[in-house]
Amino acid sequence: MKTIVTDSPEEAASFILSGETAAFPTETVYGLGADAFNAAAVRKIFEAKGRPTDNPLIAHIADVGEVDRVADFSSRIAQRLAERFFPGPLTLVLPKHTDVPLVVTADLDTIAVRAPENKEAQAFLRVCACPVAAPSANRSGRPSPTTWQAVLEDLDGRISCVLRGEPSVVGLESTVVDCTTDIPRVLRTGGVTLEALREVVPDMQGPQHDPGDTPRSPGMRHRHYAPVARVVLVDKAPSIPPRETAGYIGIEDPGETAQSDSGGRWRLVEQVATPEAYAHRLFDFMRRCDAAGVETIYCQTVEPTGIGAAIMDRLQRAEKGSAGSR
Ligand code: AMP
Ligand code: MG
Repeated sequence: MKTIVTDSPEEAASFILSGETAAFPTETVYGLGADAFNAAAVRKIFEAKGRPTDNPLIAHIADVGEVDRVADFSSRIAQRLAERFFPGPLTLVLPKHTDVPLVVTADLDTIAVRAPENKEAQAFLRVCACPVAAPSANRSGRPSPTTWQAVLEDLDGRISCVLRGEPSVVGLESTVVDCTTDIPRVLRTGGVTLEALREVVPDMQGPQHDPGDTPRSPGMRHRHYAPVARVVLVDKAPSIPPRETAGYIGIEDPGETAQSDSGGRWRLVEQVATPEAYAHRLFDFMRRCDAAGVETIYCQTVEPTGIGAAIMDRLQRAEKGSAGSR
């Protein structure tokens, strides 16, 4: 299959309307979409990504007014969260309407819904005029793509189209909140912080950390966000570059920033100023390290508050899923 790269939301939407797949930019990461009401089209997403079929997708809508096309939106708490955070990097899990094919939700009777804030995503979704089911547009298990080039790196020849846009501003996936229980719970940390959610819903539950608990967000069981390189977490910048071919990302300056193939110098260094910049750069840095043949990526840990909670979640998953412990 030839993958078309386009700047036209109309052209990208034409593939969705004819039952094909198209990747599109959002503020979190790039998504790989198909018409949520077309089961055969949605199956192509799972095939292209090599995604386990028990990992549900997110229904993307152009506007908060479309939530009730796919879900029961009668929960007052869900409405208040949507009022405050839609459009934006928040996904709400709600009771699913029965006419949405079960392939979208991996057989669950709940559905995840999000209205992205990114302007190109909104233009694309408006032309599609259907809810677009989409996970991140990467090969399953790889770091999510935050640029259109990263989408092609993983999926060129496996999907019909990529809508070319800017690099994703947030750089990490959306926060997923389960609104089907009396007290809503964060199932996945992401672009909207727990602190911000609690301003609207003070008793919002944080994510479960006990690995013995059955994850309510099925995708959380799977290997995620892992580069080919081994990921090592460090609480401060190593002052001496390691002997192996290594990369470093962190807020502190690691000192020796020269890039060279030998002599114990860092091959690639990404020194960020803020946790937001860390989130924005992280997945792209992992991909650049893989492209440069880096063996080990040293990632500085951050305070697990605000966006730092999502950064630490992704770093810990990458560390677990990376070559060193695979
Ligand atoms: P991705 O956008 O690639 O991160 O994939 C979407 C993620 O949303 C899944 O991996 C799940 O973690 C989450 N998700 C989607 N639908 C549901 C649902 N019905 N209940 C709980 N979590 C969901
Ligand atoms: Mg994903």
